[in-house]
Order: sequence, then C-alpha cells, then structure tokens
Amino acid sequence: MVPDNPIRSEREFQDILRRLELALDASQIGVWEHDLDRNVISWDAQMHRLYRTGRSSGPVATAVWSDAIHPDDRLRAEEEFDDAVVSRGQYNSEFRIIWPNGEIRYIRSRAHFYVSDEGRPSFIGAEWDVTADVLLNDEAARQRSVAEARALALEESNARIEYAAEHDYLTGLPNRRLFDSRLAELAEMPHVSTLAVLHLDLDQFKQINDSHGHTAGDAVLRAAALRIEAAIPETAMAARIGGDEFVIVLVNFGGMAALNRIAKDVQRRLKKKVRFGQELLQSGASIGISWSANRGEANLLAESDIALYQAKASGRDRIEFFSQQLKDDLMSKRRLAEELTLALESGDIVPFYQLQFDARTREIVGIEALARWKHPERGILAPGTFLKVADEYNLSAELDATILRRVLADRRSWERHGAKVPHIAVNISGQRLYDPLLVDDLVALKIAPNSIVFELIETIFLDDCDDELLQRVDRIKQMGIEIEIDDFGSGHASLIGLVRLRPTRLKIDRQLVDEIDTSEEQRRVVKSIVEIAKALDVGVIAEGVETEAHAAVLADLGCETLQGFALSHPASAAEVSGVFARLAAQASRGRL
Ligand code: C2E
Ligand code: CA
Ligand code: CA
Repeated sequence: MVPDNPIRSEREFQDILRRLELALDASQIGVWEHDLDRNVISWDAQMHRLYRTGRSSGPVATAVWSDAIHPDDRLRAEEEFDDAVVSRGQYNSEFRIIWPNGEIRYIRSRAHFYVSDEGRPSFIGAEWDVTADVLLNDEAARQRSVAEARALALEESNARIEYAAEHDYLTGLPNRRLFDSRLAELAEMPHVSTLAVLHLDLDQFKQINDSHGHTAGDAVLRAAALRIEAAIPETAMAARIGGDEFVIVLVNFGGMAALNRIAKDVQRRLKKKVRFGQELLQSGASIGISWSANRGEANLLAESDIALYQAKASGRDRIEFFSQQLKDDLMSKRRLAEELTLALESGDIVPFYQLQFDARTREIVGIEALARWKHPERGILAPGTFLKVADEYNLSAELDATILRRVLADRRSWERHGAKVPHIAVNISGQRLYDPLLVDDLVALKIAPNSIVFELIETIFLDDCDDELLQRVDRIKQMGIEIEIDDFGSGHASLIGLVRLRPTRLKIDRQLVDEIDTSEEQRRVVKSIVEIAKALDVGVIAEGVETEAHAAVLADLGCETLQGFALSHPASAAEVSGVFARLAAQASRGRL
C-alpha cells in the first residue's frame, strides 16, 4: 500500500507535484500505471521515450509493452508481473527491451499494488534504463573472470615449473635436487633407523647410444626407470641424477642381506632386453651401495659413488659395498694417477729398451721399448705399478704417445752417432689405438718407413675386429709402421681376425715359452702357431726367452726372432747407446 501523505493545501500539493516532476525528469525515470480491471496501461512522456514509441503520452495496449521486451526475457517478465498481481504486492523486475532501431537496452522496473480512488485495483510503477550499469557490471565480471583465469594459469604453471625443477623430464623420476633434499629430510627423521643409498650406472649405455642412436638410449633409460621403481619397496625413492646414473634411497630395510637382495633384483630386471622398434637392446647395471645405521653421520651419496666406481672398475654387472678400505685404495690410486700425469708432463716416463735377436745368427734385429717411470723417491718403476691406473684414468694413450716420441728422439740420436738401428717396437694400448688423434699425430711425427713397429695386445682384437679397427690398422701400415700381435696365444684371437688384420709378426706369449723345453704339449702349441704364421706369411717372435734351452727349442721350431733375459735385459737409452757404440767399434775393427 502507498502510505498516506498528509497533504495540507492545494498549493502545497501543486508544489510537491512540480518538484516531483522535475526530479523525475532529471532522473529520466518513467512512470506507469496499470489498471488491472480494464487492463489499460498509461505511460508518461518519459516512459514513451524509454521505449522509443514515438509518442509523448497516453494509454498503451499491454501488447506494446510485452512486444518491446526481448523475446528471451519476455516470458519471465510477464510471469513476474502476473505473480505480483496475484500476491497484490511488490513488482520488481529487470529485462531487456529492443528499440525499433534494433538496439537493446536494459530496463529496471518497480511497482506497487494499490487501489485507485475509483476503487479499481492497479499497479503504479517506475522504470529506468540501467544499460550503462549492466554493461559496466558485465565488463567488471568479465575482467574478474579473466583475472581469475590468469591467476589459475599462473598457479598451474608455477606448479609445473616446480615439478620440472625437481623431476627428470625423460623418465619422470625425481632428479638430483629432489633426491638431495629428500635424503637430508630422511636423515633427520626420528623413525628412520637405517638409511641406504644404492648408486646405479647402466652398463654399455654409451655403446647403445652410439650404435643405435639417442632415441634408443632414451628408451633404455625409460625402461630402466620403470623397472627400478617396480623393484623397490613403497617407502623407497628412486631418482635419476645423471645421464645413465640412478640412485635409490632405502629406509629401515633391515640389514646388508636385504640390501644385497634388492640390488640383485634391480640388476636382474635391468638385464632384461628392451624392445626398440625391431631391435632388442640389452644393458645391465653396476651398483655401489652405502648404508648407515647412524643416521645423518655419513655422506651416503659420495660413499655409494666410491663403491660404484669400484663396481665398474672390477667389471660389468657388479655390486659393491662401500668400505673405508675401498676409499683409502681409491684415494691412493687417485694420487698415483695425479703423480703419473705430472710425470708424463715432466719427462719422468721414459722407454727402456730390450734387444731382440735373430734365432740363428744372434744378430740384433729389433728392439722393444718398455715404459719406465723414473720416480723421484721410489726409483725406476716397471709398468706393473702404474699401467692399471693409467688405463683407469685414461692416461694410456698419453703414455704411449710419450714413449713413441722419446723412442723417435733416441733413435735419431743413435743414428747421428753412426749406429745402424733396427726397428723399434712400441706397445700400443686399446685407448691409444682408438685415440682420434692417433693418425694425425703419427703423420706429424714423420716416422721413417720400417723403423717402428706397433705391438697390439691380442685382447684388443678379441672384442671387436670390426671394420673401423681394420681401417685404422691399414692406415698405420700405409705409413710404413709394422704391426705385431703381442702376447699371442694368451687370449683367443680368432684366425679370421688374424687373416683380415694381416700383421707383420706374431709374438708368442711368455707363458707358452716358459716350459717349452720340458713340456711336449707347449712345444706342440708353439709349433702349430709357427705353422699357422707360415701359412699366413706372417713372422714369429718369442718373448720370455730365459735360458739357452728355450732359445734352442724355439729356433728348432722355426721361430725367427728371440727376446728375453737369456739374451738381454731391458736397459736405459744410455746403456743401449753403449751397445751400439761397441758394435760399431767391432764392425770397424772387422773391416780393418
Ligand atoms: P710385454 O709387452 O709382454 O713386455 C714384455 C715384458 O716381459 C716386459 O715387462 C719385460 O721386461 C719382460 N721380460 C722381458 N724378457 C723377459 C724374460 O725373459 N722373462 C720374463 N719373465 N720377463 C721378461 P715390463 O717392462 O714390466 O712390461 C710389462 C708390460 O707392460 C708389457 O708386457 C706391456 O704389456 C706393458 N708395457 C710396457 N711398456 C708399455 C708402454 O709403453 N705402453 C703400453 N701401453 N704398455 C706397455
Ligand atoms: Ca710388448
Ligand atoms: Ca708380450
């Protein structure tokens, strides 16, 4: 009900009316009245303007109103009005109307039920255009939702960045960073009584990568990650911390036997072949383990790394536990490798020379250069004390190169003094043979043809007598360097490999010579080696000739050249120089 306004006089009433009209005009609010009995609507001028009827006042049919409403809003607006009629209460609505020019406007409408002076039920109401407000609200809402979407995206990308920072993209495993922080956390946890780190390195991963390509390598890494995860208990965590390096941290596992069992299981799974397209790839794993019952005290990761190093050094597919002894040994090997590096630089690694003789005439027909370390404190060291370390620390190629340079220098110096120097054999490690710099180095050294022999150990050909190797050897031969197979008969060089490689000479291993004067069997073996060599048109030399008896049997069996303590010991360049000087003196006396 409209509240009664106590109107005191006609003038006062006119005054209020005038002010109301001004206010309505200013606010652009339209006023309407709906006579429910007669169903007639009267609009004031502002209402006509709001709806763009083109008229300025007067009653309108209800259809004028409802036709103007946007079809999507029409039913609702009408229902709301009907509800207000039924309840004889308030009418409060908002809807869109469409102007004759097609423009859409938003209208708010409010009205009251009342009974007119004539006693007829009516609604009187006001309407105004809220388009600007609505559009503003819409825009605000749109901006809000854009901002919300942006915030969400940012949150997601932050989460992604965080995940990527702690995980390995290839396998999805935690990376080194997450592993480190997890290990540190575990070490502090009161319920963690034992903690272990298993450090894994895939065997032959490099070969798979090199010969089958990186995608194959990736497939092997992914398979390895899945298999490791499958092998470890729920409470354990696996991480990939390097190319083909994985670590596993285990808690409360119950002792060394359990660790060993888990490590073996991981190894067994990793040995299974991985399918890659048409191919089956096989790797395996070496594992180093460190564990501690006194939490937090030890540096488990570093220790497991030391154990892993040992596992790899002792061959593939090994499991090794960390111990203080292991660490001490490793440290002293490392020190030795450092010392050796310095010795190579400072010229303390020199060749000693052992002469080789014709089995029948006992003429000097060759020399083998053997590396010696002139150690400032320990005296002259034989290769047995440093070759393994050189090999492990990749110093062998440098060692061989150093020896060759010294050999060539010594040779030139002897020749300058008038000596007639036979060919000199140098030992070539696998590392040196596969050294990419080898051929260029040799070219630069301008080696005179037939002055140098390369002794290649038989086991080099065991693994792979492949085309690459044959090409390298051919290249070396083209430079006038002879090839000798060292320690022949100790390994398992295949005859096929031998035929393809076509060495100048075979050097019969010391162990076969050892009992040659007493063992019929050894004689037979050496005899057949000599026969094979003859058939292939390859020369034969025997080493380790310690007695005249050895020398006699070997000469008898057809071995052309002899080397050993019976005939000469390895000696320094100066001593050999003396030998050449004496020989030259003898020769000139002979000529007199
Ligand atoms: P190797 O090539 O089989 O060399 C022969 C070894 O037998 C030498 O040991 C030599 O001193 C020793 N020897 C010579 N005659 C006799 C004998 O009648 N009886 C016995 N029992 N031994 C004899 P060395 O000098 O200690 O060298 C050991 C190994 O170290 C060599 O075996 C060779 O494989 C390697 N080596 C030596 N110098 C070099 C080098 O410059 N580079 C590389 N990569 N390896 C080298
Ligand atoms: Ca040799
Ligand atoms: Ca040998």
